Amino acid sequence: MNRARVVTLNAALGPLDYRVPDDMHVEPGTVLVAPLGPRQLLGVAWEPERLPTEEVGDNRLRPIVGTLDVAPIAAPLRRLAEWTADYYLAPLASVLRMIVPSSSALEGPRQLTEYRPTGLVPDRMTPQRLKALAMLEGRQGTVRELADHAGVSDAVMRGLVNAGALEAVAVEADRPLPCPDPDFAPPDLSEEQTEAARSLSAAIGKGFDPVLLDGVTGSGKTEVYFEAIAEALRQDKQTLVLLPEIALTEPFLKRFEARFGCAPVAWHSDLRSSQRRRAWRAIASGEAKVTVGARSALFLPYANLGLIVVDEAHEPSFKQEDGVQYHARDVAVMRGKFEDIPVILSSATPAIETRHMVEIGRYREVTLSNRYAGASMPEMRAIDLTQDPPPRGRWLAPSLVAELEANLERGEQSLLFLNRRGFAPLTLCRHCGHRFQCPNCTAWMVEHRLMHRLACHHCGHVMPPPKACPECGEEDSLVACGPGVERIADEVAALFPEARTAIVTSDTIWSPARAAEFVASMEAGAIDIVIGTQLVTKGYHFPNLTLVGAVDADLGLAGGDLRAAERSFQQIQQVAGRAGRGDKPGRVLVQTHEPDAPVIAALVSGDAPGFYAAETEARRDAAMPPFGRLAAIIVSAEISADAEAVARRIGHAAPKVEGMAVFGPAPAPLAMLRGRHRQRLLVHAARSLDVQDVIRDWLAGIEWSSKVRVAVDVDPYSF
Ligand code: ADP
Ligand code: ZN
Repeated sequence: MNRARVVTLNAALGPLDYRVPDDMHVEPGTVLVAPLGPRQLLGVAWEPERLPTEEVGDNRLRPIVGTLDVAPIAAPLRRLAEWTADYYLAPLASVLRMIVPSSSALEGPRQLTEYRPTGLVPDRMTPQRLKALAMLEGRQGTVRELADHAGVSDAVMRGLVNAGALEAVAVEADRPLPCPDPDFAPPDLSEEQTEAARSLSAAIGKGFDPVLLDGVTGSGKTEVYFEAIAEALRQDKQTLVLLPEIALTEPFLKRFEARFGCAPVAWHSDLRSSQRRRAWRAIASGEAKVTVGARSALFLPYANLGLIVVDEAHEPSFKQEDGVQYHARDVAVMRGKFEDIPVILSSATPAIETRHMVEIGRYREVTLSNRYAGASMPEMRAIDLTQDPPPRGRWLAPSLVAELEANLERGEQSLLFLNRRGFAPLTLCRHCGHRFQCPNCTAWMVEHRLMHRLACHHCGHVMPPPKACPECGEEDSLVACGPGVERIADEVAALFPEARTAIVTSDTIWSPARAAEFVASMEAGAIDIVIGTQLVTKGYHFPNLTLVGAVDADLGLAGGDLRAAERSFQQIQQVAGRAGRGDKPGRVLVQTHEPDAPVIAALVSGDAPGFYAAETEARRDAAMPPFGRLAAIIVSAEISADAEAVARRIGHAAPKVEGMAVFGPAPAPLAMLRGRHRQRLLVHAARSLDVQDVIRDWLAGIEWSSKVRVAVDVDPYSF
């Protein structure tokens, strides 16, 4: 009898055996539907020898219900799934859920209804309708797509359909995708770029080859790796480009289209199910030649992958903090290894870990040391806030204000960077000192004046700002402490009432469409001063932006976690990289109370190699990553005592292993998060130790009730 070992998408279940009906073909990787009790589950067939489980007698096996009409999950991706599950101590099923979306996404409708303008003008015109019709000329799409594009509600769109201004068109959901053309608009590369592009392109089709593409901001890294994509297209291979932020996809799509004549396939969490289904199938069939996506795109079943690019590879957002806690940059390299293809990590400010891999000869390095078209690197200067302090209750030093004013007069654009959303990070009562804390998290409620709300940035809890203090009852006694971007925007408005400003944070740029609007306004010169969080530090290219002010360069250094200095350095380098990218030179002013701090000194003197060397030495001395390893065991429960009891038991059971030390349990840095109390044990281990193996055995000997959750964060980003 034919049997199959199946990993279902249910993380609570181990592998299960099923009977394969005679008329059904099942091989390792086949996506299938299996019965479980009265229900049916999606699963993937696996090599039995790789997933040992208790043998079940033939007579007790239930038959597989059916197989899905999609290509089997190929061996390299199965190996990657196993590696990810092992390395990050996650159930294989949880990894498979990232490879195979729900069955509805796989099956879904094959026909879609789209709409297009008829040219008929409705009798009743409203400003919304007018706007929609103006935006939709020559477009076709689903109601949602068109509504998104026009920036109106679905209801407005349906009104236009009813009024006969839009008509329905039935389309095949699987209509062919346009194919990017490698020779559509090749750029004129500089000598340095040509050499880099040649070196990257030469790697296509030649096996595993991890490369750090290390180029200063504005050096044309994107143009250069586009040439590697062109080569992959010529060899009819697929490319995956990972971007750190969904807000960056829209400008990327435009650039890609300009180079290759059509847009790539986009994959991110905001796709609607019809788009998701279409994209998944095109990726799995090999029709999607280039896919650009957020980290989840890494696990898709590409039919014929030939290249992976991780853009802005240093970005912390590549670290997934929920579910399977993987680092997309590291998994990308592993995928490259299993698929036997090159992987390009592109960054102007690579992570210490990545540089280290270059130093020990594991990754190749391709360097671009000049900005394109002779643009010079911006001039960097520190503003010592102890010598040049802002007036009371203000945050911008007089010398920065003077530069902003000069820039306005010249008609050039400026950017103020402060990595804090909202108006003020802390609100307190001036009468009794009460501070507003989130009821679910160990975090202050942040005032968002534009939304007229206090909000928790960890769980999303919001409340209207109360009129009276809930503690002492005093009215109008609440004061905002410290600045957020909204408060800086107020300061700018007070200083320069004529200036046109824009706030750029995840509150204002929450979709690719909003990002596109922002880019268009910048390019049209409709914005004078941008005030933004780390969201503006990446990717953007605005030639008329010549002044960058870092409002509080000390902010990232507080708290003192392992990566504080590195992250501050990267953020300020990146935001500085937005200045002077065109033919006008750029200036960067860094406000600090400690101009002599090593990070600030290195930024101002432009001594990146010196900074990296010192940081690397400090890590080596402390045996911290990449020289040693860390894993965090987080124990959480709604009742604090439950979490503490299990954490203590785990602590007591810690094995004595040479080269490993366990710290804690102690309250985790966010001691309460989303209503759960969190205890943490930190495991520090020598590089040579298989720390996952040790932790697996260690936790396997301990039981806990379902009220308690134990999660292991291998290679935690921050702690
Ligand atoms: P990086 O990613 O290194 O910061 P980009 O790839 O964004 O740099 O390039 C910066 C700007 O210079 C972009 O607007 C890009 O289109 C332009 N650019 C770079 N190289 C070329 C080239 N060879 N030909 C035309 N434009 C280029
Ligand atoms: Zn909260």
